Amino acid sequence: PYSGPKLAEVLDKRKKFLNPAMFLYYKQPLNIVEGKMQYLFDESGRRYLDAFAGIVTVSAGHCHPEIVEAVRRQNELLQHTTTIYLNHQIADYAEALAAKMPGNLKVCYFVNSGSEANDMAMTMARLYTGNYDIIALRNAYHGMSPATMGLTAHHTWKYNTAQGFGVHHALNPDPYKGAFGNDGARYAEDVQDLIQTATSGRVAGFFAETIQGVGGAVPLADGYLPAVYKHIRDAGGLCIADEVQTGFGRTGTHYWGFQNQGVTPDIVTMAKGIGNGLPLAAVVTTPEVAQVLTSRIHFNTYGGNPVVSAAGQAVLRVLDQEKRQEHCKAVGDYLLTEFRKLQEKHDVIGDVRGRGLMLGVELVTDRKTKAPATPETLQVFEKMKDLGVLLGKGGLRGNVFRIKPPMCFTKDDAEFLVKCLDISLSEL
Ligand code: PMP
Repeated sequence: PYSGPKLAEVLDKRKKFLNPAMFLYYKQPLNIVEGKMQYLFDESGRRYLDAFAGIVTVSAGHCHPEIVEAVRRQNELLQHTTTIYLNHQIADYAEALAAKMPGNLKVCYFVNSGSEANDMAMTMARLYTGNYDIIALRNAYHGMSPATMGLTAHHTWKYNTAQGFGVHHALNPDPYKGAFGNDGARYAEDVQDLIQTATSGRVAGFFAETIQGVGGAVPLADGYLPAVYKHIRDAGGLCIADEVQTGFGRTGTHYWGFQNQGVTPDIVTMAKGIGNGLPLAAVVTTPEVAQVLTSRIHFNTYGGNPVVSAAGQAVLRVLDQEKRQEHCKAVGDYLLTEFRKLQEKHDVIGDVRGRGLMLGVELVTDRKTKAPATPETLQVFEKMKDLGVLLGKGGLRGNVFRIKPPMCFTKDDAEFLVKCLDISLSEL
């Protein structure tokens, strides 16, 4: 049993010594002391089913034994020198990750967070094209560094400081609430209009998550990426896919989210699930685009160090061995079917969406106006925790449940989650 510091003490220290901007989930916060695959344990030993995976970060499972062992072995051998010396781990890892990529996306640069990866993608796109303007989507989340804060399109994540210069936000191709429904080509026309009205007509690049994560598990309208990629490339820009949440088989039908729309980007950014919880992120691009960084020296102290590279390789191996992509499809399809049954029963469910284990359930007070049921979402969210299930919450108005568990989440777990959700919704 756990004998470390208890909730009140941890909370007190956090209030005293950590920046108050760090927010906590739940009225009575959780003191999580242990994780095992799809389960988390609090200080009293109570088990929770984790359907949010530390914000979609734990891909293979909490403390997956094979990944823990790979990290332990490398920790004992060599932890760090930076890339000024050779070490096989980063090279082996880059080779293994490149093997997972389509087309000519073969060159990796490892960094430590999703924000850094998107910063680098933005720099590469500007250098490669010689253009400055960037198109991103409303309701996007791409990071919190000063540059990526400008790409992010949620007022809650934007400080009133200089950010976003050169970034233009296009209409969100949201099939549920967007202006043109599920007609991807129409939204792409809006991007063309934006390029012609808000920029010189030449752009550096286009960023999109392939299913918006923080924005509330919002998929892109059908046919959007092929149409928008064409407009961007016609305007001289590069197409960047942010796979920070959607990569590594989570969407079930494909290894990468962008493949669901049948496109190949010029740059792909990855983080979160790539390291199963360790600070690892990557920018993968073509040899031609990668070359632009050589106009200066580029350096990142921790990026791809031997320990995280060993972890990254173990993640790729484990997800393949355990056939997690197929598993995400099977469990995700089951969840979608069950959520749709709940939708028939509970009027408050406005939309059920997503792919694989990247799912969203949006609560509304009125199915016609789609007015957000924000307090109701919060009430159900708390009740789910009381029943032992941890969900994510998101969307611009905080009225979407985000169901994105570790990929080892089973059908039995899914059944339990659905039962608990039914009970919680019935109490509204
Ligand atoms: N892109 C997406 C799609 C994300 O969800 C996030 C994090 N929520 C980021 C980028 C930024 O990642 P990080 O917090 O590691 O900087």
